[in-house]
Amino acid sequence: MDVLSAATLVTWINRAADVYEREKAYLTELDAPIGDSDHGENMARGFLAVKAKLADQSFPDAAAVFKTAAMTLLSTVGGASGPLYSTFFLSAAVKAAGKAELTLADWTACLDAALAGIVQRGKAALGDKTMIDALSPAADALRQAAGKPLAEALALSAAAAETGMKATIPLVAHKGRASYLGDRSVGHQDPGATSTHYLLKALADVAAA
Ligand code: ADP
Ligand code: MG
Ligand code: MG
Repeated sequence: MDVLSAATLVTWINRAADVYEREKAYLTELDAPIGDSDHGENMARGFLAVKAKLADQSFPDAAAVFKTAAMTLLSTVGGASGPLYSTFFLSAAVKAAGKAELTLADWTACLDAALAGIVQRGKAALGDKTMIDALSPAADALRQAAGKPLAEALALSAAAAETGMKATIPLVAHKGRASYLGDRSVGHQDPGATSTHYLLKALADVAAA
């Protein structure tokens, strides 16, 4: 595939919901030492609700899919991650407005906007041990992959998110609940960076299928 249709985006979000359901216990386990042990439940509950909403209707364009995801995540996920993932999709929706399908360049603009939106909302910077540490390198990798086949670019982006996720382990947290621990947050992988990696990996997998 060389573009992401609205139907492909629905497939992506459904796949992400399945991944979060499967990895629920692991994500919650990551949130135990540096948070409040709910990240897996939050992500699984939120994306299950999005999956149900998406099954209910058909979508004319990419922005409509993203808006539905944003609204549903905001109303079903509390904590830090609900509003932040909602912002991810709402920011992407702005760039996807009026587009029946997304080219690689379109999706790159969406991911850049999603990153900027989350930074604006959560005020975290790269290296603060948050989802930004997976998202920012993923957006960089996507920009650098301009002109490559879509599936290859998405795979590079997901791989960069994974590297960023792993790189959160030695970091001291400066935002969110983990920041309450100060230096004791060192040695733990950030749950939100992990769920961001899963999200982008699910998209790469859908595009490769
Ligand atoms: P809560 O901590 O409120 O229970 P979750 O456990 O669902 O929420 O999500 C925690 C994740 O949210 C963290 O691992 C981190 O990646 C992310 N996070 C927290 N605060 C911020 C922030 N200000 N900016 C970006 N991401 C953040
Ligand atoms: Mg939590
Ligand atoms: Mg919580």
